[in-house]
Amino acid sequence: MKTVNLTCVECPMGCAIEVQLDGESVVSVVGNTCPRGLAYAKNEVVCPMRVLTTTVKSTDGRMVSVKTDNPIKKSNMFSLMQVINGITVTAPVKIGDIIMKNIEGDVNLVATDCLK
Ligand code: SF4
Repeated sequence: MKTVNLTCVECPMGCAIEVQLDGESVVSVVGNTCPRGLAYAKNEVVCPMRVLTTTVKSTDGRMVSVKTDNPIKKSNMFSLMQVINGITVTAPVKIGDIIMKNIEGDVNLVATDCLK
């Protein structure tokens, strides 16, 4: 049996959560004060997920901020950054424009800034 201590990042409360694992199986979760914390803790110990935020280059040398529109596997971030570093966009770009569709599963990379 293994114990993992986490701080829930789903809201500003930052509840301290303790997860008991038997191998890869979650045996118990305590310390969460809502169901979101339970889901966070279970995912975090088995397959941590994060929204990826970064920038991409434009053809004129400027940078545009982007993010995934849903969390992706934390373990895939490095390989996805290599893909993203190879992307070049051309102005104009609007907030919410899809820069790359289905970058991981049905998750898209979208612009969070404008480029005129
Ligand atoms: S367990 Fe619930 S209340 Fe606590 S930090 Fe997570 S989301 Fe917020």
